[in-house]
Amino acid sequence: MTKYYQLPKLPYDYEDLEPYISRQQLMIHHQKHHQGYVNGANTALEKLEESRKNNSGLDLKAILKDLSFNVGGQVLHSLFWQNMNSFQEGNDQPGSDLAKALKSEFGSVKRFKQEFSQAAVTVEGSGWGALAYCRQTKRMLLMQIEKHNLNLYPDFKILLVLDIWEHAYYLDYQNERAKFVDGFWNVVNWDKVAKRFVLARQISG
Ligand code: FE
Repeated sequence: MTKYYQLPKLPYDYEDLEPYISRQQLMIHHQKHHQGYVNGANTALEKLEESRKNNSGLDLKAILKDLSFNVGGQVLHSLFWQNMNSFQEGNDQPGSDLAKALKSEFGSVKRFKQEFSQAAVTVEGSGWGALAYCRQTKRMLLMQIEKHNLNLYPDFKILLVLDIWEHAYYLDYQNERAKFVDGFWNVVNWDKVAKRFVLARQISG
């Protein structure tokens, strides 16, 4: 099968996010679930290509729905892996520029974390919590993304995402999504978030 999308390598080892995300949990999430979205996206693209080649009819509605779901999964998981790293003492808070921006938008970094956590915990069913940058207002905005593709705003630059599908935490936390979200704050890669924030503002210029 032609590979349109590929599973990205993690920027750390599977055990590096312990004890907040276990090796087994991370491995299954990356190798099985994320790989599944990569495969699903590629299959949908293959179907499109086949049909164009043969000039045959196709159920475009079904294929595009499938494509949107799986590409969303690929894009969001790729971001998610990047915005985490192993816990490092003293590096568990945003740097000064990002902290200042969060404070200006949310009142304080603590308040931002509370709101982001609440947004993530209360996503209906499977989905994602996200912090994004709006190019129109030049402000940061929280998002609740359902599944992989609903409520995902075009043209927003996502700065930080958290996967809160059960497959992201069930082995480690069972049904306790809020505990998983609490643990997540220990493994946020703030440098990556800050870099995306810088980029978002440059692009919006
Ligand atoms: Fe996931």
